[in-house]
Amino acid sequence: MDRGRERLPDLSYAVVLVPDLHAAQDVAEALREAAGAPALLLPRIATLGQWAASVPLDRPVAARAAREALLYRELGKRGWLQSADLWAVSGELAGLFDELTRYNVALPANFAQFNRQLERAYNARSGDSLTFEARLVHELWHVLARVTGEADPEAAYQLRLARIAENAAAPLFALGLTRLSPAEERFLQHYAARAPVQHFVADPELGASAVERMLAAAWPRQPDHPGLLDRARELKAAHPASPLTARLRLIGAASADQEAQAVDVTVREWLLAGKKKIAVVVQDRLVARRARALLERAQVLVKDEAGWAFSTTSAATVIGRWLDVAGGDCYHRDLLDLMKSPFAFHDWPRDERRRSVWRLERYVREDSVIAGLSNFIKLAEERNDAEVRQMLASIRAGVSALGRGSRSIPRWLAALTTSIEHIGVREGLAADSAGDQLLDLLARLGQELRADTLGVNFTEWRRWLARQLEAETFRDRAIESPVVFTSLASTQLRRFDAVMVLGCDAAHLPGPNPVSLFFNQGVRAELSLPTWPERVRELEDQLAQLIASCGAVVLTWQRALAGEPIQLSPLVERLAAVHRLSYDDNLEDQALAARLAVAEVRAPGTPAAVEPTRRPAPMTPVALLPRRISASGYNSLVACPYQFHVRYLLGLAELDDVQEMIEKKDYGQLVHGVLAAFHRAHPDVSAMDPLVADRELHTLSEHAFAPVVARNYLAQAWLARWKALIPAYLDWQREREGAGWAWRDGEVEREAEITTPQGKPLTLRGRIDRVDVRQPSAVHDESPSEFAVIDYKTRDPGRLRRSLELPGEDVQLPVYALLWGAPVAEALFLSLERDGVSAVELGNDVPALMEAVRVRLGELFDALAAGARLPAQGVEETCEYCEARGLCRRNHWA
Ligand code: SF4
Repeated sequence: MDRGRERLPDLSYAVVLVPDLHAAQDVAEALREAAGAPALLLPRIATLGQWAASVPLDRPVAARAAREALLYRELGKRGWLQSADLWAVSGELAGLFDELTRYNVALPANFAQFNRQLERAYNARSGDSLTFEARLVHELWHVLARVTGEADPEAAYQLRLARIAENAAAPLFALGLTRLSPAEERFLQHYAARAPVQHFVADPELGASAVERMLAAAWPRQPDHPGLLDRARELKAAHPASPLTARLRLIGAASADQEAQAVDVTVREWLLAGKKKIAVVVQDRLVARRARALLERAQVLVKDEAGWAFSTTSAATVIGRWLDVAGGDCYHRDLLDLMKSPFAFHDWPRDERRRSVWRLERYVREDSVIAGLSNFIKLAEERNDAEVRQMLASIRAGVSALGRGSRSIPRWLAALTTSIEHIGVREGLAADSAGDQLLDLLARLGQELRADTLGVNFTEWRRWLARQLEAETFRDRAIESPVVFTSLASTQLRRFDAVMVLGCDAAHLPGPNPVSLFFNQGVRAELSLPTWPERVRELEDQLAQLIASCGAVVLTWQRALAGEPIQLSPLVERLAAVHRLSYDDNLEDQALAARLAVAEVRAPGTPAAVEPTRRPAPMTPVALLPRRISASGYNSLVACPYQFHVRYLLGLAELDDVQEMIEKKDYGQLVHGVLAAFHRAHPDVSAMDPLVADRELHTLSEHAFAPVVARNYLAQAWLARWKALIPAYLDWQREREGAGWAWRDGEVEREAEITTPQGKPLTLRGRIDRVDVRQPSAVHDESPSEFAVIDYKTRDPGRLRRSLELPGEDVQLPVYALLWGAPVAEALFLSLERDGVSAVELGNDVPALMEAVRVRLGELFDALAAGARLPAQGVEETCEYCEARGLCRRNHWA
């Protein structure tokens, strides 16, 4: 400002360079303050990169994505690292080569020379792996260098800087540009030869303030600095009172949740205290997510400058799901997930779309369709559901637009964009801020790679796309807020009223030493590339500047993770140690923890009181009592009235699961169907040739199981299990026919009308698996025909016997006898189990039992109408497969 004062208020002739563009607004503010003028014509405020990007070049620039694709192709051609993720290797190599260009490292033209250079750096003798690494890096570097007609991004940057320096005229002020690359330093020198350049760099060592001296004592810069204790003594002598106590607090949280709470409460306290600009420096993204959710619950929106990887956005998830559907076999879960996404079928009215998807889900569950788009289309056609058919037709069009086979990445990207138009996802993404940025990213990548012709298959292309979505960042630019989540690098030269740094533990600050596929830290140092210790020093500088520039700083960290203690960040530990040694205070804030609980903003709604869980026993409103009851409903009422209440009075039922594996109850139903078909075709089995009977039953069984086996080959095991029983079943059948019984009917639907003692009508209904008949001639002359009702079971006979031990506990057989309506002499379960075929009979007095269940049902219904309760009282065997278990909360009864 001193240099430009005579031309005020016009500063537009100058250029101010800042390390991060987020600082531009504060720099402009500072200039206005220093000028003391209400309005200024501001200088150009930019970063070096942004300034360079505005300079046109006379040659095309190869995009990073295109260079990675080239490296991928070259690696593939040479057959190197075949089992590795070649996209990851290409990405790392491209980054390494950019660094080599940035730091002016030219690899020797000769491979042997390069190998020797690496050998020196690794301080090892040349071995196979070293030679391979050297060959790989050396050869691919030269492949990239040979690409003519295009500049790589780093070279283009340097060319542009040179162009700016050649035409330098405006006075240049560089603020806080530390860690310049050699090319950038040369740029400033060349620029200075033509126009004035002034470079301001903060140096804590030279700082006059007590805080800066404190920070310099914690993070000294001179290589020959005194020890920690001496530095602490010197500090205490120069500044008897701590310069940090009033400005910096350190909060150690017991968990990630508590750390997030500490952020939430501290930020809200600052807002209440009138602070207008609050920065939260995010070192731990997980805690940041929780803290952001807590702040939003308290209606404090957060401006997130740090952003999120695209891969974590729901916009990228819908693309992933679409590729799962279109690239795979249209697995039902993927398909339903896709169709339920708010991005899909965005052009449909919302309610109509949701209802249609819900209907499709029901069809899929009812018919247990696992995969295959044509199978889902068939379901919709069978149900004559026009909307679902239309949706699935759009998906089919999208699948064919995406296509298969091998093609170049830009063609894959174009096919993806077209395919998502068919399913309304493109429209959905365009209406969402992350989605819109995602569409831009896909378009940019397609453009950058337009010249790439390498054919890749679907799987390789997906892997490439996943890497791009992981590497690129989404920033929500719609939110403006006094609270900013940002990175340490982005805080430089900015003014904040208060600052929090979250994630000040060793795992996040500085974080782990990055492991590189190529070149360890020793080799990087040998090649003059930046090393990890240098990066750590840079973090220390940034942290020191941040603390020095702000009057209220809170550093938070998590003391333990899953019961294991976590170390405080070594950077912060040094600061705390110097402070402790100087002032006998380790800067810890113990008071906040006590305030967290009282300051918590609870989720909306009244919290439910916690009471002991008791066995439920509800009453039923008379209006809910049905006038019809099935045999299984009656059985449920007797076995557990609460289960009856849930299933038959409230009508609650689980959605059927799509059965990827056949279950025992399906096996039972298939066998019932096979036996009914067999006996309907062959009522007299004894008259058949045993071999023919056996073959016939086998054929019917294979036919009935075929659709299930087609869905899942493992269903063969169930078929084999049943086939093993066929000889035993036929033996039992012939024996039964020998005793005079003949098959009469199977899968018989019946109803019986009952009047309760209170005179209320009630209909009992059910389906009988099988009815046999015995003619009088086989028993006594002149007697009427006798009937037997049979219920096939795939349970073991012991368990069936136990269920019949207490008369009236299992009402199925007497109910079937009652439903048949003619004299029933026998009622039995026929156990078709692994060990064989055996009958379990109800007992001798079937008519008496029939009458007892009839009377009992009438009485029960009268009692229910009079307000009787329906207690949960199933025995373990009933509860085992009961879907109401989560409702009666049997596992939690007090
Ligand atoms: S889990 Fe048992 S007690 Fe609960 S409703 Fe079901 S059968 Fe009744």
